[in-house]
Amino acid sequence: MKKVVVIGTGPGGSSCAALLASRGMDVTVLEQNDFIGGKCSTYEENGFKVDTGIHMFATGASGPHGQVARELGVSQPWLVKDPSETMWMNEKGFFYLHQKTTSPAALKELVMAGVTGKQKVDVLNSLRRSVASFGFPGVLRELAGVAKALPGIVAKYDDTTARDFLSLFTDDVGIHRAMNCLSMLLLVDPYDKASAGEFIYVVSDIFRYGTLGVPRGGAIGVPRSFMRAFKRDGGKLVLGVAAKEITVTDGRVTGVLGSNGETYPADVVISNAGLKQTVKLVGESSFPDEYVDYVDSLELSYSWIASKLFLDTRVIDLKAPSFFPIPQVDPDKMFAYCDEPDGLPVDPFIFGPIPTEWDPTLAPPGHQLIMIGVATSNNVDQEERSQKMLDIAERKYFSFFPEAEKHIVAKSRITNKDTNRITRKGTGECIGLAQIPGQVGSSKPHPKMPVEGLWAVGCDAGGRGVGTEQGTASGMLVASLVG
Ligand SMILES: Cc1cc2nc3c(=O)[nH]c(=O)nc-3n(C[C@H](O)[C@H](O)[C@H](O)COP(=O)(O)OP(=O)(O)OC[C@H]3O[C@@H](n4cnc5c(N)ncnc54)[C@H](O)[C@@H]3O)c2cc1C
Repeated sequence: MKKVVVIGTGPGGSSCAALLASRGMDVTVLEQNDFIGGKCSTYEENGFKVDTGIHMFATGASGPHGQVARELGVSQPWLVKDPSETMWMNEKGFFYLHQKTTSPAALKELVMAGVTGKQKVDVLNSLRRSVASFGFPGVLRELAGVAKALPGIVAKYDDTTARDFLSLFTDDVGIHRAMNCLSMLLLVDPYDKASAGEFIYVVSDIFRYGTLGVPRGGAIGVPRSFMRAFKRDGGKLVLGVAAKEITVTDGRVTGVLGSNGETYPADVVISNAGLKQTVKLVGESSFPDEYVDYVDSLELSYSWIASKLFLDTRVIDLKAPSFFPIPQVDPDKMFAYCDEPDGLPVDPFIFGPIPTEWDPTLAPPGHQLIMIGVATSNNVDQEERSQKMLDIAERKYFSFFPEAEKHIVAKSRITNKDTNRITRKGTGECIGLAQIPGQVGSSKPHPKMPVEGLWAVGCDAGGRGVGTEQGTASGMLVASLVG
């Protein structure tokens, strides 16, 4: 029987390991942390259960996480709310975004937003622009293809930025602002960098399924369900041991040397450590020079950092469990501060899920947990700037909800240095590889690396989708190729 060693238990590593074990393979998993899940995990703080990131899961039970759980036959309970987001567009109040867009409540909300002026769209101008781009019947054909994320349409726009794609249809400032926010939220790259194909794919899936949600008990519910099946099927999990070296003889992997000094023999090594780290674990000299240069040139995603506020009572009472105020700024300059060495946002876009509105069991009874996230670069050495950004984001949040500040019993923050503490990559990116033209779809790095028996898994290899879901999609792909 083939011996497989999987390095890492992020969504990619844990899903792949569990699928291979369920298919009868001899699988050992090494995880450098003393907890599972990588950037998709949950810990206890002040009596609350808190995610390592700021998580929401785009397609929940309908997406890759649910598909793998069903194949493994393990339970993975999801919590879904509709409306799922509270948006703030302008001074005229909140707009609630429904996942089931054709429900009467969603249609009423849309009509009311137009009537009350919460979200005006320059319809005539947008029509003119769309027709100029595609011709009259072409507009309808293109929009139908986009709505269904037809594979041909997704591939057609893989190498176009989301901004250039949107400009084919409209130059309405409000729509451009909203799209840039969604791009940073879902792909963690600004819309003038993110791939339109990838954007179409993820947004279409969210509205097609209407199952955006969170796993009960926090983000760790996803990798935990996979690892439960893994252990049931005889897999061996070694926590607190890092892979120090992937050993190679005559161009083929032979095993993994652990930080505990033990060698783990393997016919197949699957690494969830990221492509750049995996090349280092093997040693550059084992790869063709062009491959080393190629991996070196790949760009990583931007990042999110967050304040986590622990409240002694339930202060925020919105119809939806998340709050996303769209900043009233020039869409082209919205995230420019991220790339300036000392740049700070004047009016930041806030990612504001309220995890206890999804799942009250995350807090002691009657308490509330609030997340206030703000986007930044993936640089780890910007701690002082990160703290200033979070000060600004908190001030903006309290301008909407002043009561919240009075009920804080504890507060903590996560920045890129905390993300790096989990991955130990020396970078703080949220996702993994950036989902930008030239790095997605048919241009995404293939999971098979050019050393016999060596595979990459996770957000750096194969797969499409939002963060954790892309990781698990890659896990499914690699398991099908290896198993
Ligand atoms: C702040 C923040 C917010 C986010 N919000 C969301 C969100 O709302 N929704 C969403 O879907 N995604 C979100 N993400 C992104 C998501 O968490 C990641 O895209 C996803 O976890 C990546 O999965 P992965 O399988 O590629 O690996 P990772 O989660 O990066 O896991 C890699 C694993 O490999 C292990 N490892 C690395 N090197 C070694 C080694 N040498 N030896 C042993 N083990 C090793 C690590 O310890 C880790 O367990 C967020 C991320 C962050 C940081």
